[in-house]
Amino acid sequence: MRNETSVVLPFTVRDEKGATMIKRIDHIAIAVKNLEEAAKFYLEVMRLALSGVEVVSAQKTRVGFFEIGETRIELVEPAASDSPLVKFLETKGQGIHHLCFEVDDVEAEVRRYIEKGATMVDTKPRPGAHNTQVAFVHPKSSGGVLIELSELPKKEG
Ligand code: ZN
Repeated sequence: MRNETSVVLPFTVRDEKGATMIKRIDHIAIAVKNLEEAAKFYLEVMRLALSGVEVVSAQKTRVGFFEIGETRIELVEPAASDSPLVKFLETKGQGIHHLCFEVDDVEAEVRRYIEKGATMVDTKPRPGAHNTQVAFVHPKSSGGVLIELSELPKKEG
């Protein structure tokens, strides 16, 4: 622990074009045992609007979305008894499961993360909700939080 405000890190790391590679926080995912039960607080107390529910078969989860500006809160419940989320809920209980960041090119990002020595859960992108391609970064690389990188489907035309 140090009690000074200076850091020995660069404040930003940008690509050749001068852009940061992360576009926005796409969503914050909260692991819950029961989607309908947990959604009541977000609907009735926080008055967020539930904009949809989707089963993500690749991850064996069922997800409810609340849009907040450019970001969403996603309540995620297991959709099968062998869903990886079952183990998470058993060991950690309900709570923040992961943060998702939108990127332009998830495949390129995965290659770069591996090059930089990050530990990846996915060494190749896989299908996520809303026809996205996603890859997860292991929490041990990111201060203890599971990170999802997500590339939106390219718009037609
Ligand atoms: Zn997610």
